[in-house]
Amino acid sequence: MTTKNLFPDLKSKSLTPAAARKSRINWTDRVRRLSKLGFAAFILYTSVVHGTAADEATTASIDALCPFGALETSWKFISTGGQFISKTHVSNVVLGLGLLIGVLIAGGAFCGWVCPFGAVQDLMNWIRRKLHVREIQVSPRVDRILRYGRFVVLGMVLYQTISTVKLWFADWDPYRTLFGLGWLFEFNLATSWFAYAVVIVVLGVSLFVERAWCRYACPLGGAISLLGNFSLLRMRRSGDACKGCNVCQTPCPVKLPVATANTISSDCIGCLACVQACPRPGALELKLAPTWFDGIRKILTKQAEVSHAR
Ligand code: SF4
Ligand code: SF4
Repeated sequence: MTTKNLFPDLKSKSLTPAAARKSRINWTDRVRRLSKLGFAAFILYTSVVHGTAADEATTASIDALCPFGALETSWKFISTGGQFISKTHVSNVVLGLGLLIGVLIAGGAFCGWVCPFGAVQDLMNWIRRKLHVREIQVSPRVDRILRYGRFVVLGMVLYQTISTVKLWFADWDPYRTLFGLGWLFEFNLATSWFAYAVVIVVLGVSLFVERAWCRYACPLGGAISLLGNFSLLRMRRSGDACKGCNVCQTPCPVKLPVATANTISSDCIGCLACVQACPRPGALELKLAPTWFDGIRKILTKQAEVSHAR
């Protein structure tokens, strides 16, 4: 797709730089919404095909299409020289590698542009706003502590998967419960009550606390956040252009301290809501400037100062 097709406003009218920037951001936002919708529809379609197939073994299940499955099966894959734990396949490894490359380039964009469960939580937030229900604000200190929950869940899932040699998380993963459509095609309260309870609680909490699952419990989100520290693209705030109005902070779905950080946390999901809200062009930008660049630059500057002083 060419830039002209993506931003038709720029082609048809002559816009001021500020209007062109706004138009570009609005179009990016539309593409992002479409992307989330497309991926959610694809996963639902796959689950319907799988759930209605005469022989389930002939169709792909939701488990085979999860990049997190690559991480879950990695220990068995490495320790046995190529075997998978039950329900995972080579497709998980391919998707996992794709996600790894994506994270190393664009950080948490998967969560903002692809993940269907992130999209569902955005939908819950939209419903809350339509119902004029007040959002619950988690204090920054509590928020900081709760975010470690993702790493605890990640550690627990990997430990249990290695010890039980099965997809331990699958029994209560709210994404799988909801999008796998087991509740529709093979509803069973006796065996799946816990999975149903988890998804109801998660969606209930997400109605009041924006993207609560992503921020506090998602193991894949935790892994993405850790790897995102090495990503090439990072959201940066320029102290010179920023006027400290805090306008960018409110729309952030994962409630990051955008207005005070120079390099935005690796928890950023690349939704660009902060850039869209910011009245100062150039104050917030997605830049090809990984944080490890900062370290290299610091060392080089120090060395230049030392040689200059000699
Ligand atoms: S944090 Fe987890 S649930 Fe949220 S968008 Fe990312 S992968 Fe999906
Ligand atoms: S920092 Fe900006 S781009 Fe990142 S998640 Fe928040 S609003 Fe979206």
